[in-house]
Amino acid sequence: MNQLAPYASDAAGSRGRRHPEPAAPTRSAFQRDRDRIVHSTAFRRLVYKTQVFLNHEGDLFRTRLTHSLEVAQLGRSIARTLRLNEDLVEAIALAHDLGHTPFGHAGQDALNTCLKGHDPDSAGFEHNLQSLRVVDGLEERYPDYNGLNLSFETREGILKHCSRRNARRIEAREPGGVASRFLAAAEGQPVQQPGLEAQLANLADEIAYNAHDIDDGVRSGLLSLDQLDQVELFAQYSRETLQQYPGLQGRRLLFETIRRMLSAQVYDVMDATRASLVAAGVDSVHAVRSSPALVRFSPDMAAKSSSLKRFLLQNLYRHPQVVETTQTAQQVVRELFAAYMTDPAEMPQAHTERFDQREGRLLASGAPAKPERVVADYIAGMTDRFAGREHERLIGRQAFPVRS
Ligand code: MG
Repeated sequence: MNQLAPYASDAAGSRGRRHPEPAAPTRSAFQRDRDRIVHSTAFRRLVYKTQVFLNHEGDLFRTRLTHSLEVAQLGRSIARTLRLNEDLVEAIALAHDLGHTPFGHAGQDALNTCLKGHDPDSAGFEHNLQSLRVVDGLEERYPDYNGLNLSFETREGILKHCSRRNARRIEAREPGGVASRFLAAAEGQPVQQPGLEAQLANLADEIAYNAHDIDDGVRSGLLSLDQLDQVELFAQYSRETLQQYPGLQGRRLLFETIRRMLSAQVYDVMDATRASLVAAGVDSVHAVRSSPALVRFSPDMAAKSSSLKRFLLQNLYRHPQVVETTQTAQQVVRELFAAYMTDPAEMPQAHTERFDQREGRLLASGAPAKPERVVADYIAGMTDRFAGREHERLIGRQAFPVRS
């Protein structure tokens, strides 16, 4: 790796792990975090979790796993050019969606409603927070502690958003920790940003899903190239492609347009971020934290990216076919939640054991918790197809008939 910039996160200067461990002989702390994430159970499950289209709807759509790999690729490319810490960006990117429920956002919204309905004081369900719960507690791989015991900087990057209420809960357990920055504004303190690598993983996530949702949208037949020509960012690069390759059509036109769009956004982030780093005069991670967010698009690209997002919201995420699937998925999650709450013995024993509130011993499946949280953790960990099978077993009806 080329030399890190002074404002990059340096593994040697990490704020460390919650359970101190000796350094690895050949890998930096962030490389080790990335490796732990890749070997985790939650990471393998991402292959069967929905991005926009359900896993059973087709083999070529993005899943959470391929999405996470695309985010890591984009993040690393930009990080290398800006001399940021590639290993840290990669670790955050690969872990950023570990907390996603089956069925994408539909599952998350349903679980949130279930938890709040059960107890209005509940922390509810937030996927960023769940990703942190996975790496902090729910993974069981090590003899001495629950979770993956990742470095502070990786955990901070994973907790991209957090409600103030939940930030207070985390702060109580971990004073001055990963949730502190979500409380600063309320306490009249200056707002703190996470490191540049976390900011970059966040923007790379956006660039990745904006591009691949176009591809998946067209593949599914829900979006057409004509419709996409209403979107400035798409139209610009499809015109450019056609100028160079008159008559090009179909998939090759789509892929070449997306490829050019992606490159343009990547170069735009590199240039705009370089300029903002210079303008802010930052020369350390400390300075980065007290500056406004510095990893960014130029104003022109930011506007184009927002209008692409609006287009995808109106035409893809709110497409009647997607909405119908979303409603079914929410019902599946609600019915699963109710079934396990009524009869927890339907869950494997490793999960019901967590009801046991005795502290001080390592439980088979993460830390002790209230039954509704254990149920939510169990459901959140499911893949689309496992949730579908469990639903059929418990409710006696196939929610997603296989289309032939
Ligand atoms: Mg994502």
